[in-house]
Amino acid sequence: MTSKLIRWYIKNKRDLPWRNTTDPYSIWVSEIILQQTQIKTGINYYNRFIEKFPNIKALAMSNEIDVLNLWQGLGYYNRALNMLIAAKTVMKEYHGVFPVKYDDLIQLKGVGEYTASAISSICSNENKAVVDGNVYRFLSRLYDIATPINTPKGKKEFQKLANKILPSINSGTYNQAIMEFGSIHCQKHIPKCHICPFQGECLSFNSGVVKLRPVKNKINRIKTRYLNYFIIRYKGQFIIQQRGSKDIWKKLYELPLIESKKEISKDQLIRHNYLKRLQIKEIKHISSVTHKLTHQNLKISFWETCLKKNRLRSNFFNITIDEIQQYPFPKPLKNYFDKEHISI
Ligand code: SF4
Repeated sequence: MTSKLIRWYIKNKRDLPWRNTTDPYSIWVSEIILQQTQIKTGINYYNRFIEKFPNIKALAMSNEIDVLNLWQGLGYYNRALNMLIAAKTVMKEYHGVFPVKYDDLIQLKGVGEYTASAISSICSNENKAVVDGNVYRFLSRLYDIATPINTPKGKKEFQKLANKILPSINSGTYNQAIMEFGSIHCQKHIPKCHICPFQGECLSFNSGVVKLRPVKNKINRIKTRYLNYFIIRYKGQFIIQQRGSKDIWKKLYELPLIESKKEISKDQLIRHNYLKRLQIKEIKHISSVTHKLTHQNLKISFWETCLKKNRLRSNFFNITIDEIQQYPFPKPLKNYFDKEHISI
């Protein structure tokens, strides 16, 4: 299996920027970006990130706003915030030398078993098997395993199998090969079974159950949230605030917000204490969009109004239109600013 996979990999691997290096910092950046992100999208973010922060020192010396600005639109913003914390740790505890051993990597903020295994095997050939979504799919089909992959039992079973078949030499290349094979050959919807080097031994192919593997337990957790954002003009500027760290869009910036569990009308908004406290009596609806996240549907409405007297809350900032670029905003707000050409 190892030699077949590696032969296939050498012939078919995609030329990706992080494939031409064994620099642990670059590999780490790519691995964190590619969690929850498609390769096609990830490449641009990776190139921009490395250009702005070419090494761990440059990243450690930056700040949350700079990192979040680069991460805008990629989602799961705590990944970026954790990278900043990890970079500072590497500078302090490893004298700026990015660790390559699993036991050190796993201590870094935001680095889990998968990422530590990937970096340590690629950069120091440590014998650690990686199991990402592509590996789950390939192994579940090759060995015809019906244990749901999103259960603790499934995770344990697949990790055990991956450890068992991991070769003792070239584990870094093998890990990249198995992930790449799952990604572009044993694909989710249209696996290339007709030209597959594993066709003979693939148990699910030979039993005709390829489309049924991997098995996943259904999780129906999608919830709908209603967000009403307000462009509040005040003295030629408008108001923004920073989000907290316990919800989506961690620490990004946004407009003043009223969130509700159900859709609420214009009259209900005007009667809402939030606007009453600001002495706002008139609002104008501008547009509405639905923005989908993995487990949430966000129904977002944008409203315009202006503030006559100074009722600014302590968490409010005033900015001009030209200053929008300096702050990282969630994607739907960024789209709104780009599309609506707000004028003050
Ligand atoms: Fe995947 Fe099909 Fe190859 Fe089996 S035969 S490993 S299902 S591509």
